[in-house]
Amino acid sequence: MSEQQPPATIEQFYKFCAEKKFMAVRCKRCGTLHLPPKPICRECYSNEMEWVELSGRGKIVTYTVIHVAPTQFVDMAPYAVAIVELDEGVKITGQVRDAKPEELKIGMEVVVDFEEAQGEGWPPWPRYFFKPAK
Ligand SMILES: [Zn+2]
Repeated sequence: MSEQQPPATIEQFYKFCAEKKFMAVRCKRCGTLHLPPKPICRECYSNEMEWVELSGRGKIVTYTVIHVAPTQFVDMAPYAVAIVELDEGVKITGQVRDAKPEELKIGMEVVVDFEEAQGEGWPPWPRYFFKPAK
């Protein structure tokens, strides 16, 4: 029997967020990282995936400032959403906090952080976000 891995799903990704772990899946055959997780490798079509913890550090590749927010984020507007390239080479979209939108720069170093699940909506997933690296 091989070691039992949690399923490579977005639900599992958010479960790890609840444990303050920023995780991706890695293809056991070719080593490609997938974030958000995918059950099938986009490079070699293997379905043998393993979860690996990321450093949570990265750089802003590009960002946009949201002025008209969806209902659940109205209180935060305006806020920035960035594509962050993590040190491991995968890119993910996330909110950037603890910085004014005008302070953000492409190439800025950021780290991931987490907040508890809260408020309306289902599922009440915990959220990750980025903030400037100190
Ligand atoms: Zn692969």
